[in-house]
Amino acid sequence: MQSPHTIDAGCEGPSVLIIAGVHGDEHEPIIAATHLISIVSKELKKGKVTIVPIVNTTAVANGTRHGADGLDLARVCPGDAQGSVTEMDAANISTIIRQSDYLIDMHNGGKLFDIYPLAGYMLHPDNNVLEQQRAMAKAFGLPIIWGTDHAPNGRTLSVARDHNIPAIYVEYGGGIAARNEIIDAYTTGCIGVLDTLGMIDKAQEDYRAPEHIVEDPTPQQGHLQAKMPSPAEGIFVPAVKLGQMIEAGEHWGAIHHLGTGNQTKVCADISGMVLFLRVDARVKTGDSLGGILPINL
Ligand SMILES: [Zn+2]
Repeated sequence: MQSPHTIDAGCEGPSVLIIAGVHGDEHEPIIAATHLISIVSKELKKGKVTIVPIVNTTAVANGTRHGADGLDLARVCPGDAQGSVTEMDAANISTIIRQSDYLIDMHNGGKLFDIYPLAGYMLHPDNNVLEQQRAMAKAFGLPIIWGTDHAPNGRTLSVARDHNIPAIYVEYGGGIAARNEIIDAYTTGCIGVLDTLGMIDKAQEDYRAPEHIVEDPTPQQGHLQAKMPSPAEGIFVPAVKLGQMIEAGEHWGAIHHLGTGNQTKVCADISGMVLFLRVDARVKTGDSLGGILPINL
């Protein structure tokens, strides 16, 4: 794990932890976190902000979701200080999470997926924690707010949950190209949360109300990689666009079998909004082709 940068206003207030690079193929969050070090250093008026732009060092070095030991840091928290490289990074970040009052964990779809911008949290059983998470998610200013079941373990958010620390994660974009609008949205979003906590004054009031707030306690709803498994191996050609509304049974895309000309058609499994979409065309049977956020309009 990269050494944490802690900015202390020298005046009593909350302690906020902002992290990126839990996955090494998610670039904009790392850049936004690095920008925030200089912005927050100039602007912080109370409390402390700790920023870790690179959590899984070997994953970021290799540009891969998993660390050099093949592990996903977002599945092995709270880690093991005596374990493999990813387990050690997980142990280090878990220690810092436990010392913080709030957590923001920034992600995107990595090499495989493009994701519609969202701020998510676990539906924490403690209503006070849940309310604070809702406020943080709104302050981040992304169009979708998504609360999911609180049971999953191994995540940075699970460590926060176990210590009643309000925590959100954010997702926006993905694929192999990096985009300025994502870096800007993440930088502005973190400033928005710090503003809501009274720690910084936002340059301008550009608050945008979310388009949709979805809270769904159904188990595993927040587990993106398990959604819409491909029925075949081949090249996925999507028929939908991110953010569009779709009905169950409508055409999602097709898997083209290289060399034979055959296709396997894929249909939407539920009705709702196209929340994320596979952008890495080559798929194996069982790979996720994307996912739908159930929104009742
Ligand atoms: Zn991620």
